[in-house]
Amino acid sequence: MPTDSENLPCIIAIDIGTTAIKFVVFDLTLKELYLSERPIVTLRRQADYSEQDAEAIFKSISEELAVIGKRFPSSLALCFSAAMHSLLAVDHTGNAKTKAIIWSDLRSKEETKELRHSKEGRAIYRTTGTPIHPMSPLCKLLWWKKHHPTQLKESHKFVSIKEYVLFNLTGQFVVDYGMASATGMFEPLQISWYPQALKITGITETQLSEIISPKKELSLKQDIADDLDFPASLKVFSGSSDGCLANLGDDATDSGVYAVSIGTSGAVRTVSPHFETDNEMRLFSYMLDKEKFVHGGAVNNGGIVLEWLGKFLNEKNPVSPEEINNLAMASETGAAGLLFLPYLQGERAPFWNPDIQGGFVGLNFSHTQKHLARAVMEGVLYNILYVMKSVAQKHPAPKLIKASGGFTKSAFWLQMLADIAQCRVEVNEGMLSAARGAAMLALEAMNIDYPSQKNTLALQVFEPDLEKEKVYRGNYIRFSEELTRLAGQ
Ligand code: ADP
Repeated sequence: MPTDSENLPCIIAIDIGTTAIKFVVFDLTLKELYLSERPIVTLRRQADYSEQDAEAIFKSISEELAVIGKRFPSSLALCFSAAMHSLLAVDHTGNAKTKAIIWSDLRSKEETKELRHSKEGRAIYRTTGTPIHPMSPLCKLLWWKKHHPTQLKESHKFVSIKEYVLFNLTGQFVVDYGMASATGMFEPLQISWYPQALKITGITETQLSEIISPKKELSLKQDIADDLDFPASLKVFSGSSDGCLANLGDDATDSGVYAVSIGTSGAVRTVSPHFETDNEMRLFSYMLDKEKFVHGGAVNNGGIVLEWLGKFLNEKNPVSPEEINNLAMASETGAAGLLFLPYLQGERAPFWNPDIQGGFVGLNFSHTQKHLARAVMEGVLYNILYVMKSVAQKHPAPKLIKASGGFTKSAFWLQMLADIAQCRVEVNEGMLSAARGAAMLALEAMNIDYPSQKNTLALQVFEPDLEKEKVYRGNYIRFSEELTRLAGQ
């Protein structure tokens, strides 16, 4: 039997991530009432391949929704967030004809290289705001065209995992601005598919979903509503991508507020009212809605670098991130001149170079494990600062950083970010920014007021220490010189 609070009106937010699907039920003041997670398996059939099974994801969502439907019978809406850039082929009844190729799949490296360095590629980037990289569905389709031309022509549609799920729930092939923005084929200023991009892939517009506002109201198919025990009145909203929604949910949409997220990988994002690309093709510009564009860069080398160091220091029994923190804390600021370039798996922003390689610079006999640990933690943040500075060339400089992701478990690393960036860092309560962002959009779509998140969210605050700035500035200059040299710029 639902309890009293479970009988109140609420919003169900589903965030389809890379490693898990998160289900969060919020009340109408955005208080979390329920949280659960179901894992997603990534298949690696070949080197460079990263795929997921959209049918298995839909099955997990249906099973969990059946549980939530019983517990929260007064749910008003179901809304979505999802990882960007996935792509699968479907038939007209919504059956998956292939596995979903996800953002980390690199099979289209060759096609991407060619396009990135062409005039056409630059024009596509400047129109769509999606960097030319194997992550992008545009590049995946170029690979498809070369390797499976018949399947490319004959497939009913090419969709993301979220579009697949939405079709199976609502019977409509639709894609919101945020997800469309991440395909490399969407023209935000026209809110339409970009003919030039479609032309090079060889697909037609009818093979893509209808573009809709993130607040467009959809509804469940009757049989699905019955199966899942939801009222037919339940509204469904497509929402947006996890990147766009994380800024919204973290209250990082004001000018000069930057979201810095470091989990396995990382990202820097800020919001402005305008679509904006840069000459060097370094940054993305994704459309959340007509008034909000999310600009920034995604980096491959986030917390995963700490995991590498843990294994490097002790292969049989890897040193934990907590122990690496302790080691690094014992070193002086600036790791006694030791610099680490964290490019262990190529890099996306700012240079989008899959071949760039990392390393220690300035290593000598005086350096011990504590210096290595400190240099690695500092190096990840110098790279983030480099991306922030690239963003700040086009947008107001950071006056506040909203931090999220696994690295927020370390107060030491967060303080280091405040000192290196010389900017106040705040960490919000909970780790559910994207799901919260989706729920905020759904509430706005239904004209339901919710309390401002401004003063309620911040849980921890880190102010920059001016004393440390000088050491970090010197090291950062060395870091940028090394990076520019490495990237061959
Ligand atoms: P994902 O991106 O897969 O969701 P998380 O957001 O959970 O990952 O972040 C995982 C990363 O968080 C790890 O790679 C690790 O570097 C970092 N991390 C976890 N615990 C700590 C800690 N105590 N101190 C510093 N970093 C940590």
